Amino acid sequence: MTKDQILELIRKYSLANAIKYDGKANPNAVIGKLLAERPDLRQQAQEIVPLVRETVATINTLSLEKQIAQLQALAPELLDVSHERRVKQLPPLPGAEMGKVMTRLPPEPSGHPHFGHAYAGFINWFYARKYEGSIILRFEDTNPRLVKPEFYDAFREGYRWMGIDWDREIKVSDDVPLFYKRARELLEREDAYICFCPVDTIKEKRREGASCPHRDTTKETNLGIWDDILEGKYSEGELVCRLKIDMNHENAVMRDPNIFRIIDSPHPFQGERFRLWPTYDFAVALEDYLNGISHILRSNEFASRGELQAYIRDLFDLSQPIIQEFSRVSIEGSPVSKRRIRPLVESGVISGWGDIRLATLSALRNRGIVPETIKEITHEVGMSVAQPIIDWSLILGINRRIIDPLANRYYCVANPVAVIIEDHQSVDAALPLHPDYKERGTRTVHVDQQVFIDGADAQRLTKGDIFRLKHLFNIRVERKGRKGLSCTYAGEDLDAAALKIQWVTNDSVPVLMNVPEVLYIDDKLNPNSLKVEQGIGERPLGTLEPGTLVQLERKGFGIIKSAETKVEINMTG
Ligand SMILES: [Zn+2]
Repeated sequence: MTKDQILELIRKYSLANAIKYDGKANPNAVIGKLLAERPDLRQQAQEIVPLVRETVATINTLSLEKQIAQLQALAPELLDVSHERRVKQLPPLPGAEMGKVMTRLPPEPSGHPHFGHAYAGFINWFYARKYEGSIILRFEDTNPRLVKPEFYDAFREGYRWMGIDWDREIKVSDDVPLFYKRARELLEREDAYICFCPVDTIKEKRREGASCPHRDTTKETNLGIWDDILEGKYSEGELVCRLKIDMNHENAVMRDPNIFRIIDSPHPFQGERFRLWPTYDFAVALEDYLNGISHILRSNEFASRGELQAYIRDLFDLSQPIIQEFSRVSIEGSPVSKRRIRPLVESGVISGWGDIRLATLSALRNRGIVPETIKEITHEVGMSVAQPIIDWSLILGINRRIIDPLANRYYCVANPVAVIIEDHQSVDAALPLHPDYKERGTRTVHVDQQVFIDGADAQRLTKGDIFRLKHLFNIRVERKGRKGLSCTYAGEDLDAAALKIQWVTNDSVPVLMNVPEVLYIDDKLNPNSLKVEQGIGERPLGTLEPGTLVQLERKGFGIIKSAETKVEINMTG
C-alpha cells in the first residue's frame, strides 16, 4: 500500500468511529479497528499510530454533519453501519434467530423493476444480512407468456444497483417436474380434480358457492386425464386442475382454486418442455418450503392469497414460514403498473421505461436518485401497514442531502446576456469544485473581456450597481444596452457587492436541462411534466462522463446524460 492509500484508510475508519461516537473519534479504537481489518499493516504500526492521531485530531474538529458527508463521499458502505445509530431503522424481525433467517427476492420477470421492488427487496435483504442468514433471488417465471429474458436481467441489474446481493439464484420454472409430482399426489388423494368448465362458469359458480359435476370425478379418471394432458392430448383453455377445498369458503380465493392450467407458449428458458403450468399460489407455496424460507416479507396486496398458500403447505405437511406484511408503497403521481405505463410509452408521451418522470429503477437512476435515498426511505417508512404514498418532495429532499457532498459545482446560465468588462485583462480563474471539499481542487476557466450572465440576473441590474462575478471579483455596471452590459472592474471587497452572480465565459458549451415534474396530478396527466431549459455552461462540464452527479449552482442537482456536442443534464428536480 502506498502512503496515500494508508492515509485514506485511516481517514475512513476515523470518520466512521467519529460518527459512531457523536463526532469524537478515539485514536486507539481507530488503530485497533484498522489493524484488525488489515493485519498486513501490523508491521507498519509504528508509522501508522502517529498518522492516526493526526487524522483523528483533524476529524474531531469537524461537525458531525460534515463528518457524515465526508464519509458518504469516501466510503458510504461504512456509513450504513455507523449511520444506523442516527436514523430510524427497520425494527427487529419477529422470530429471527442469528444465522437462521432465509428470505427471498421474488420478482416475476414480466416487467421493469420499480421503486416498490427496491423497497421490498431492501427489507428482505436487510434482515437476511442483519441476522447473518441468506437470501435468494427467485424468478417466479411460471407464466411463459409473460416472462422475457430482458426482464430477468433488468431485475438482476436493479437489485445490484441497490446494493442488494443474493446467495443463490433460482428459476421456479426449473421445478415444474416437482410440482407435477405433488399434483399427482393430490389427485390420488382426491384433494384435487380436473375441471372442464369454461372460465366464466367457474367464476359464476365461485360467486354462487356451487360445485360443478367435475368435482365428483373419480381419481382413476382424473389420473388418466392428467397423463393425457402431459402427453399433449388437450389444448389451452380446455381444462384446469383445481384444489378441492370448499365452494362456500368465506375467502373467495379458497373456493376450489386453480392450481394448473395449459399455456401453449414457449418459455424463454424451458422452451417447449412444459405445457401445463402451475398457478402462482401453488408454485410459490411449495417453493417457499423447498427453498427453506424462514420469513416471507411482502406487501399486503397478497394478503388474501396467504391463506391459500398456507393451506397448500398444510396439505403436504410442510412447515410454515413466518409472514410479515407491509403496505404496498407508491409514489405520488407516478404509476408503476404496466397497464398504465405502456400506453404512455406507445403514444410517445414519455420516452420509455427509463423516462425520468417514472418510478422505475432505471428512471430513478437516470434522474440522479441514488440507492441510499431509497434505503433511507425504507428504514423510515419501514414495515408500516398504513397505505404510504410517498411524496416526491420527501424523496428529493433526502436525495439532495445525500448527493450534496458528492456533486461538484458548475456554472450554467439560461438566456445568456453578455457582460463586457472594459478594463479587464484576460486571466485564468480557478474555481473550487466543491466549497466544502477544497481538497478536490478546482476547475480552471479562461476569462477575457466578455462573460455571460443569466438573463434573469441581468434584468435586476441597473447602471451604477456593483455586483460580484462569483469567485472572481466585483464589477460596476456602466451602461446597459441592447447587446448586454458594459462594466468596469470594482475591486475584490466581498461586502461591496450586493449580488453574487454565476457567469460563463466565451468558451462555453451549450447545455440542455431536462427538468421533471410530477407525471399525474389528481390522476390526470400533467401537460407540463417535463420542462426543457436551454443555456450555456462552463467548458469543464463538457468533459464529464455520463452518470456524473453535478450541482448547477442556483439551478439544482442533476446527472450528466450525455456530453457530446451539447451537454444534456437530467435534473433531479
Ligand atoms: Zn367443472
